[in-house]
Amino acid sequence: MTGKRDYYEVLGVPKTADEKEIKKAYRKLARKFHPDVNPGDKDAERKFKEIGEAYDILSDPKKRGMYDQFGHAAFDQGQSAGFRPGAGAGPGGFRYEYRPGGFGPENFEGFAHGGRSAGFGAGEFEDMVSGLFGGRSAGFGPSGPVKGEDTSTTMEVDFEDALFGTTAQLNLRREVPCASCGGTGTQPGTRPGTCPDCGGAGQTKAGRGMFSINRTCPRCGGSGKVQEPCRTCGGSGYVPKTENLTVKIPPGVDDGSKVRLPGMGGPGMNGGPPGDLYIITRVRRHPYFERRGDDLYSEIPITFSEAALGAKVDVPTRDGIVTMTIPPGTQSGQEFRLRGKGAPRLGKTGSGDHYVRVKVAVPSSLSEQAKSALMDFVRHNPQNPRAGIGFGGFRRGGRGAA
Ligand SMILES: [Zn+2]
Ligand SMILES: [Zn+2]
Repeated sequence: MTGKRDYYEVLGVPKTADEKEIKKAYRKLARKFHPDVNPGDKDAERKFKEIGEAYDILSDPKKRGMYDQFGHAAFDQGQSAGFRPGAGAGPGGFRYEYRPGGFGPENFEGFAHGGRSAGFGAGEFEDMVSGLFGGRSAGFGPSGPVKGEDTSTTMEVDFEDALFGTTAQLNLRREVPCASCGGTGTQPGTRPGTCPDCGGAGQTKAGRGMFSINRTCPRCGGSGKVQEPCRTCGGSGYVPKTENLTVKIPPGVDDGSKVRLPGMGGPGMNGGPPGDLYIITRVRRHPYFERRGDDLYSEIPITFSEAALGAKVDVPTRDGIVTMTIPPGTQSGQEFRLRGKGAPRLGKTGSGDHYVRVKVAVPSSLSEQAKSALMDFVRHNPQNPRAGIGFGGFRRGGRGAA
């Protein structure tokens, strides 16, 4: 694209012009250069586009501020200064990401343009006009109240907090109905007027020259009426809001548990209630405990003599240290159940169990004295633990050539 003209120059207004002056200038010029009024006139079309672009920037205080500061460079990458639902890191160390449910300010634009049906390249100038008149009031979308979308976010929870429950802070950025217009998207105090594009007919001619066809008026969506968009929300009916919520995480949540926060999801439409927010928990691993469902698992080393003679050993559990009795003759790998010491059953009463697996720890080095004591033990205990295993069980087994 070649050098762009100054937007103020395009609209013929001074840099100090207020919203009203800008709008007035735009309307006058838009009417004059509208492609429908100047069929086939390339120059008029180009001018109309330029006017629309200038108005798009200058009518938006944010964009205008950026333009005043940086000039055309502020929008070179096609970036607008508009609101983008983004990600915010909460103080709790998790991220919340809002996905617009389909009626955010950005999606709404796409929605309004979705009604475009004529394929003869006629869409270009609509993009400019849609910034001036919000499509919502013009009859797009469902007419009855619609509940907002359910949204979800992931939250990491410490292993212990998942067992006992906790409260967490959630920095939530979401869309709420605009207070200025009550969510209607139209500027309060203004009344719907006859659509200037179609004169109220709801139909316009689209395309150029011989390819001209009748189609639904893109400006009013066929209703024949347009209304000025709300200045606060730009016509979307919604504004972003950041809230710091204290979220109760109940005892017993696991990986993938859903905690519902009613009414904290996407905004409703046409007076419908907002959707719900689901917090999906991710439980951090624990160095000692493992969790499977409502049961906890852990391993505890015991000595050979403790296994052989039996012992009382201290075992860490969710409720602290408990003393567990190891019976004489306990095998390595044997599991002992501590009833009710597992995770609380989410939303129910009671808890799972805690299984403690013992592992016989074999000394990796022995003193001479210990060695001879063990030899002594072997003499007193000439046991062959492999005696019961059928070595002849496999046809091709055995020791091979002896
Ligand atoms: Zn119209
Ligand atoms: Zn509004």
